Amino acid sequence: MVVLSQKDTLPTLLLLGLLSVCCLAELQRFEHAAKPDGSLSFLVVGDWGRKGLYNQSHVALQMGIIGEKLDVDFVISTGDNFYDDGLTGETDPAFHESFSDIYTAPSLQKPWYTVLGNHDYRGDVEAQLSPTLAKMDHRWICLRSFILNAGPEMAEFFFVDTTPLVNKYFTNPGDSVYDWKGILPRKKYIQNLLSEVETGLRESTAKWKIVVGHHTIKSAGNHGNTDELNILLLPILEAYDVDFYINGHDHCLEHIISTESPIQFLTSGGGSKAWKNNIKPWNPREMKFYYDGQGFMSVEMTQTDVGFKFYDVFGNELHKWSTSKLLGSAM
Ligand SMILES: [Zn+2]
Repeated sequence: MVVLSQKDTLPTLLLLGLLSVCCLAELQRFEHAAKPDGSLSFLVVGDWGRKGLYNQSHVALQMGIIGEKLDVDFVISTGDNFYDDGLTGETDPAFHESFSDIYTAPSLQKPWYTVLGNHDYRGDVEAQLSPTLAKMDHRWICLRSFILNAGPEMAEFFFVDTTPLVNKYFTNPGDSVYDWKGILPRKKYIQNLLSEVETGLRESTAKWKIVVGHHTIKSAGNHGNTDELNILLLPILEAYDVDFYINGHDHCLEHIISTESPIQFLTSGGGSKAWKNNIKPWNPREMKFYYDGQGFMSVEMTQTDVGFKFYDVFGNELHKWSTSKLLGSAM
C-alpha cells in the first residue's frame, strides 16, 4: 500500500501513477511566421469534401484566385472534410479526390490547419490524424485540438474538437456509426479539452484570439445554435476576450454579433453542398450577414487591424467587416 505525505512532490505522484499525466497536458502548438511586413492573411472553408461535386471545384477555383490576390499564408478548414462518412482509412482515395486533386491552385499550396467535423467522426478518425496523410500531401495538418501561434504574438488560434461535446451523436446516433476511439471516457475527454483551452487562452498574450471549431455557437442556419457549446465553451471565450469564433457545420456563410459580448461569430461552411433553405428568424441587430449558398471567407490582419470578407462561388465579395484594437470596432 502506498502512503502519501504532504512532502510527496508532483513528479513522485506521477511516478506512482496516482495522478494522470493527461490532466497536465497542454495542447500541441504550431508556429506560423507573418509576412515580412508583419501582416497575415488566410482563407477559411468548411464542409467541403465531395470529390468536386456540389460546386466544390468552383469554390476551390475562386479560393485559388483570392488566395493569390491576398498571398495567403495558410488555409483553415472548419471540418466535415470528407463526406458522407469521413475517410475509410489512410489509403482512402477520397483524400486525393476531395482534397489534393481539388485545391490545386499555387496559392493554396500552404498549410491547411484542419479540425474534424461530425461527418469525419463517422469514418476512421485516426486516419485523418495520421502523419501518413501529411506525407502524401504536405499541406495537411489535422489534429483533434491544437494551438497555432501566428505572427508570433499577433494572433493565437485555438482549434477545438467540438464533435465529442455534442450529446446527440452519443444518445441518438441513428444509422450513423461514430468512431469514438481516443474519446472515451467522454466526460474526462471534455473536461481535459475545456481545461486545456482555458489554460491556453488565459496564458495567451496575442493581440488577437481566435477560436475555431466545427460546430456553431450562434447560427440561424439549418442546424442552428449548438446548446452544448453555448453552455460549456462560450463562457470560456467570453472570460478571456476572444475576438472571433469561426465554425462550419451549417452550410452557409454567416456573420453574427452578440449584444452580450464583443465576440464575432463567423460561419464558413459553404465549401460544397449548400442552399438548405432553412433559415431561422434572428434578431436583425445581431445578424450582420447570412448567405445560404456556397463560398468561403478571407481574413487579413496586422497587429492593430483585422478585416474579413465573404465570397460566393463566383468570387463575388458578399460582405466585409473590419475592426481595430486601437480605434474600436468599425463597420
Ligand atoms: Zn457538421
